[in-house]
Amino acid sequence: MTFRVIAGGRDAASTPGLLVHGAAQVATLAGGLRRGATQDDVAIVSTPDTPGSGGPGRRDAPVVACWEGAILAVGPRASVSRTLEAEGYPVSRFARLDADGGTVTPGLIDPHTHLLFAGTREGELRLRQRGAGYLEILAAGGGILSTVEATRAASNEELLTHGRRWLAEMLRHGVTTIEAKSGYGLDVATELRLLEIADALGREGPVDVIPTFLGAHAVPAEFRDKADATEAYVRCVIEEQLPAVAAQGIARSCDVFCEGGVFSADQSRRILAAAQGLGLAPRLHADELKASGGAELAASIGAASADHLAAVSAAGIDALAGAAEASRPVVATILPATTWFLMSGHYAPARKLIDRGVPVALGTDFNPGTSPTPNLPLVMTIACLSLGLTPAEALAAVTINAAHALRLDDEIGSLEPGKAADLVVWGVPSVDQIPYWPGADLVRAVVKDGRVVVGGD
Ligand SMILES: [Zn+2]
Repeated sequence: MTFRVIAGGRDAASTPGLLVHGAAQVATLAGGLRRGATQDDVAIVSTPDTPGSGGPGRRDAPVVACWEGAILAVGPRASVSRTLEAEGYPVSRFARLDADGGTVTPGLIDPHTHLLFAGTREGELRLRQRGAGYLEILAAGGGILSTVEATRAASNEELLTHGRRWLAEMLRHGVTTIEAKSGYGLDVATELRLLEIADALGREGPVDVIPTFLGAHAVPAEFRDKADATEAYVRCVIEEQLPAVAAQGIARSCDVFCEGGVFSADQSRRILAAAQGLGLAPRLHADELKASGGAELAASIGAASADHLAAVSAAGIDALAGAAEASRPVVATILPATTWFLMSGHYAPARKLIDRGVPVALGTDFNPGTSPTPNLPLVMTIACLSLGLTPAEALAAVTINAAHALRLDDEIGSLEPGKAADLVVWGVPSVDQIPYWPGADLVRAVVKDGRVVVGGD
C-alpha cells in the first residue's frame, strides 16, 4: 500500500491545507475523557455501504480536513466539502493524503516514558530468569543505579543521539506526543541536563516531548552510606533539586517512585506538595510492586495520574473511583509491557478500574531495565490480551485519556476542530485490527501539526 500527497494544483508545501480521504474508518475520539462504559466508544465515522455495490462506497468515505496545523473538520466527505466551501476553504486548495481503505486515528500519546538514559541492562533478564526480584537487583546496586552511573557519564551529544533514535522509532509506531521523565541523574546538574535535552528534542520535532522531573526515582549511591539515607535524599530533592527545576522552567510535572523500599507515601506526599507549590503538576509511580498507598495519595492530592497500579489495594481502587467524577480525575496510567517484561504475571486490575469509572490510559514505560519497548500499539495488544481491554478501550487509553493524563486534552488526543492536526493512517480497515496484529508495522502515514512526517511519499 502506498500513499501519495497530491497538492490540489499547488505544491504540497505551499498549501496550509491537508485533506485525508479514503478511510474506511475515522476514530475521532471526540467527546472528551473516557471513563466507565464510554471508554469503549472511540466515536467512529465510517464509510457507509453503498447499496448494490457489495462493499463500502469510497465516495462517501469520511475525511479529515486540516488547516495550518489544526483540525478544521471531520466527517462524511460530502458534508465536510460543503462546510469547507461555505467557510471559504475551497477543497482545491488542500493537498491530499489517500488513506486507501485504512483507519485514521488521532496521533498516539505515550504518557509515561523514561526516554533519556545511557547503557543497556540485558543482563538483568538472565537474573530474573533465575528468580531475582526487582528490589533484589536494586539492592545489589544494579537496576536503576547502574543506569544512573552510565547516564551521568554520557555526553549531551550521546543522549541526544539516543533520544532521536528512539523518538524516530516511536513515531514510526504512530506516536506523536510523549511524556519523558528525568530520573537517571539524581543530582541537580544531571537532572537539569536531562530535562534540557528532552526539551531540545521536542523542539527539534516532529514528536512533541513533555518533560517531567523525577528526581525521586531512587536514592543515589552517594547517599546510601548516610544515616537515614532516604530521608536525607528526600530533603535534597525538596530543598535543592526542586527549586532548581522550577527555576529552569522546563518540567511541567513532578513524579515520585512511591513504593515500599523506595519512597514512602509520606515522603512522596512531601515532595509532591513542594512541587505543587512551585507550579508542577503531581504524578506518581504508584503501587507497582506492593500496595504502598500510592493510589490513595494520588487521589487525595488530585494527581494528574497514578501510574502502574499492578499491586493497587482495594482501598486504592476505592480512592481512585471516589475521585473519578471530579472534573479532573486522576487518570490510571497502566503499563502492562512492564509487567510482561518483568514476567511477574500480576497485571494491574484495569478491567476493575474501568468498571468502577476510573479513566484508564496506557503507556510504554520505555526504560532500559523493565520495559525496553518503544511500541505503543504493542502495549495496546498486551492490554487487550492481559488486562481484558477491548481494542476501542485500548485506543481511548493511548489518545484522549493519555492527553488527560498529561493535561493536554485541550490540544491533542482527538480529531476535533481546533485541536492539533496529529493523526495516524493505519494500513488496516478497522480500529479492532490495530491491536489484532501484535508487533506488526501497521502505520502507513503519520501527520503531525498538519504535515505528513511518515509515509505519504
Ligand atoms: Zn516509569
